[in-house]
Amino acid sequence: MRYTVTRDFIGYGANPPDPRWPGGARLAVNFVMNYEEGSEPSVQDGEGYSEHGLTEAPGLAHIPRGRDLAAESMFEYGSRVGFWRLMRLFQERGLPMTVFGCALALERNPEAAAAIRDSGFDVCCHGWRWVKHFELSEEQEREHIRLAVESLRRTIGNRPLGWYCRYGPSVNTRRLVAEEGGFLYDSDSYADELPWWVTVEGRPHLVIPYSLTNNDGKYAGAIGTSDQWFSFIRDAFDMLYAEGARTPKMMSIGLHMRLIGHPARAAGLARLLDHIQKHAGVWVTRRLDIAQHWMKEHPYPGCGLNE
Ligand SMILES: [Zn+2]
Repeated sequence: MRYTVTRDFIGYGANPPDPRWPGGARLAVNFVMNYEEGSEPSVQDGEGYSEHGLTEAPGLAHIPRGRDLAAESMFEYGSRVGFWRLMRLFQERGLPMTVFGCALALERNPEAAAAIRDSGFDVCCHGWRWVKHFELSEEQEREHIRLAVESLRRTIGNRPLGWYCRYGPSVNTRRLVAEEGGFLYDSDSYADELPWWVTVEGRPHLVIPYSLTNNDGKYAGAIGTSDQWFSFIRDAFDMLYAEGARTPKMMSIGLHMRLIGHPARAAGLARLLDHIQKHAGVWVTRRLDIAQHWMKEHPYPGCGLNE
């Protein structure tokens, strides 16, 4: 029977498993830098318009057809400037992160790809293009996944082991990612604070949920200043850290180069990193390390849900 994602309103419920994080950590924190600039819809790549998602532009009049040069340059700021600032903030503190990499975007900035390769940060595949997977046919989507793996192998030096869609996934995405055969996990869910197993076409498949709440995407909506963002994310960290004394959890924090890469916002990120580093028993880690830990400590089907 063909796999389809089913609804699960129950999950781990009142008694989530103890993740047994390394060193007895109370909380695993994974920062994610979304590397998207250069893969977004554009006139040059055939979409007929310029993407303006998560730029400064909510109040600007957008050009619905043809090139929107303001929007294009706001994307370019992300890979030209924001990228290097975020790399510095993590590297000067000796902290790891994960890159959600759009393959075509990394092809278009070999210097950034080389810096990621040299950093030891893991790259989770964020698609070949930054497009809506649910608008692709099954054939097109399979081809996008294939192209993304092949491209990242060239730019980063090894194949991606995780997958996360731009926008929502299609009803086929998880099955196609599992069928591709080389991925350890996908992050196309926001349903929990711990990983879980599903069975896809008879094979085990790990889901490591992501967060659009603990995310700098809030800067494009409700949140204006670095203090607001810092206190919002710090409150989440403090809550999970307190709960973690009894039930350790995982916290994903999403970043975008063209958003939090701007100096006034990056200041809030710097305060957050310093706040986290003042706490003992926190495992700041890469997404790949969480996946490999889970596979070893909680092998399928021990923590399998919903299938
Ligand atoms: Zn993204």
